[in-house]
Amino acid sequence: MTLAAPAGAAAPQTVELTLLGTTDVHGHIYPTTYFNGDKVEDVGLAKLYTLIKEARAKNPNTILVDSGDMLQGSPLAYYQAKVAKVPGPNPMIQAMNVMGYTVAGVGNHEFNFGLPHLYRSYSEAKFPLISGNIYGLKSEHTYNKKLGTKDKPATVFKPYHITEVAGVKVGIVSFAPPGITIWDKANVEGKITVGDILESAKRWIPEVSKQGADIIIANPHSGLGGKFGPAYSGYSASSGLPPENVGLELARLFPEIDVIFAGHSHQDVPGELTENGVACCQAGKWGEHLAIAHLKLSKQKGKWKVVSKKTETRSTQGVAPAPEILEVSKAAHEATVAYVRSAIAKTSADWDAKLSQVQDTPLIDLINQVQLEATGAQLSSAASFNTEAVLEKGDISIADIASVYPYENNLVAIQITGKQLKEYLEHTANFFNPVKPGLPVINPEVRGYNYDMVVGVDYQIDRSKPIGKRIVKLEYQGKPVRDDQTFTMAMNSYRQRGGGGYEMFQDAPVVYSKEESIRELLIEYLRKRGTIEPQDVFRKNWELLPATR
Ligand SMILES: [Zn+2]
Repeated sequence: MTLAAPAGAAAPQTVELTLLGTTDVHGHIYPTTYFNGDKVEDVGLAKLYTLIKEARAKNPNTILVDSGDMLQGSPLAYYQAKVAKVPGPNPMIQAMNVMGYTVAGVGNHEFNFGLPHLYRSYSEAKFPLISGNIYGLKSEHTYNKKLGTKDKPATVFKPYHITEVAGVKVGIVSFAPPGITIWDKANVEGKITVGDILESAKRWIPEVSKQGADIIIANPHSGLGGKFGPAYSGYSASSGLPPENVGLELARLFPEIDVIFAGHSHQDVPGELTENGVACCQAGKWGEHLAIAHLKLSKQKGKWKVVSKKTETRSTQGVAPAPEILEVSKAAHEATVAYVRSAIAKTSADWDAKLSQVQDTPLIDLINQVQLEATGAQLSSAASFNTEAVLEKGDISIADIASVYPYENNLVAIQITGKQLKEYLEHTANFFNPVKPGLPVINPEVRGYNYDMVVGVDYQIDRSKPIGKRIVKLEYQGKPVRDDQTFTMAMNSYRQRGGGGYEMFQDAPVVYSKEESIRELLIEYLRKRGTIEPQDVFRKNWELLPATR
């Protein structure tokens, strides 16, 4: 487009800004998840920094923001927070300091290791941490040590940040998911609370405009919602909490936002997505992508106006990690590698997952035992994700647990009826073919991760019976399960949301949800115990008929 300047006036000034966004990096710095041996993976701040430097070389007028979930989610983060005898400076914050972040938002997982860990880590940051809807209930938990009023509660963090780039005043706002008060209740109850994202945006966005921001960026720890996924995912609307994934709604209500760098839902949303004129972009998870927004501004009548926006995400696939980040994080990385390889527990038996889908197996009972103990539920279900997994007699390492539990599932517990339990088990039975000559036992059309095994009830699956009538015995504490009985059942979040066609649970009340990784719970369980034997967890409670071998 051409901008005609009125005769006699100075030519309009123009400037290009490059806005860079990371999110849900979850404790990844080196290009490894630590779960796949020495394999180089496309994750981590070191690879991101290479892309960031490239963008800055092209245009020095940049802003770098993170949308939260930085401090937790990798063995490196876990080691630093929970295992290291003397926790040194937080490696994520040290790396981010080198990378020159403008600002970072606060995610829900920041609270997983407790408030002292969060405050200590954040105190090391050379950039502001912002969040507009996390409120302090006690003055020591507010950023200015002053308590607010009911209408204007005091925030724990700086609610927004304004900075200037190339003469353009940039206002940045961030918000956190209200579910923190459920997921991390034990860490935050009575100390902080989290309000409605949209309500708090009504308070801070006009304020940022009033302070003279020429453009506004939002880096909420919130997914886009709408066609990108449910507004509620980690808790239900019946909890009474406001929704968690409201990125598109934020754009609908606040067209004055120029760019939203969303987070939380771990999606890669590469653009060109605009909602109500607001450019929306999301950089996936773990440092797999960098979100970039290119803005062109022109000064008209003394005011900056955005004349064009373009958003994209760039993959870190094949990108070389930046040596300065590897260097600053080297000690933390090496300690993590040693930790991952070291024994967290010992066993005197071999645990094998080979037959775990056709017969009750100690390895699956171990997962269920961990889920039962964490949630206090009556029943628990788990799938066998890797039938090649073996825990050999001797030392058990984190790498071993990663092979048993390769997925990023969180633990939840729901309340179900006996009827739902039956429907559920009938659905699991679709994993098996009918008894017919030439047909294998396992139906190849059902993926192994969609076949769950339940503990807490005794049952038999008879694949010689018609589909829908294959659960021939189902007992709780020695008595047949009645349709109107209710149970609490622990399971992974993928299943609870209906993954694998398990729609019977969609409206079941959630009774436990702390956004805990099941793999991390397994690791913690074994580390605390020190030794584990099959008989510690094994109880034969289900079988497949007719008998197979
Ligand atoms: Zn996350």
